[in-house]
Amino acid sequence: LQLKLQQAQKMEAIGSLAGGIAHDFNNILFPIVGFAEMLTEDLPPGSPERANAQEILCAGKRAVDIVKQILAFSRQQDNMLIPTKVEQVIKEVIKLSRATIPMNIEILNDLQQDCADVMANSTQLHQIGMNLIINAYHAVEEKGGQIMVQVREVVLGSVETAEMTIQPGRYVRLSVADNGVGIPSENLKRIFDPYFTTKMTGKGTGLGLAVVYGIVREHRGDIRVDSKIGKGTTFEIYFPLIERKQVSSTSAVQCRDWSET
Ligand code: ADP
Repeated sequence: LQLKLQQAQKMEAIGSLAGGIAHDFNNILFPIVGFAEMLTEDLPPGSPERANAQEILCAGKRAVDIVKQILAFSRQQDNMLIPTKVEQVIKEVIKLSRATIPMNIEILNDLQQDCADVMANSTQLHQIGMNLIINAYHAVEEKGGQIMVQVREVVLGSVETAEMTIQPGRYVRLSVADNGVGIPSENLKRIFDPYFTTKMTGKGTGLGLAVVYGIVREHRGDIRVDSKIGKGTTFEIYFPLIERKQVSSTSAVQCRDWSET
């Protein structure tokens, strides 16, 4: 719990600082990208000048992407929560990822169709799904592999691990599993830190999981990570159902599919 609180406070502080900077930056980037686009179109195709202008445009667009991530993390945007079907949003996310991830990477899905609603913001849910799937893709990219996306309604008994406690109750669980490189245990406690990345510049910002963590916390949800080097990683996100019913917990750790009951 202590760890969780520290993490939350850290996020809060960095979030408001970064949000302010990102906002100003966004205003500066707007004309840079806009004029670079006009310049590129005006210059003769194939000329070195056009290629140079294109470089400015690409760099500008990369910066816009990063700023977007920071703004999402700092939550300076609309985040109204309304009754939402997680599986429907995730279905869209899978469609979009299928269109962008190379075909040699298998994307499997198992989406329970009649999950109860959770209070959520579908844009933010989309962001969670995308960030987790892109990370899974990067983990299997080199050798090829599988990404499994699952949405299920589950009943939890009491779950207590070193890093967290999830209250007993009913949840919609989103899990994204890959059979990729895995996460070394010394990195596991740092993956949700803003700017922690093991990826090359240009490929990772280190903000993806910080964004995911922030959004999940806003949704009063929880995250669980399980990873083995060389075997793969599973991220589980738990969204509490709107109507929380307490269930009796008989054993220390229970996590079974609601659909099976
Ligand atoms: P980024 O992807 O930009 O590096 P993230 O915050 O999304 O930032 O992830 C932080 C780090 O966590 C990654 O650089 C990577 O080392 C690790 N990571 C996240 N997801 C996975 C995964 N599915 N498999 C292996 N490592 C992962």
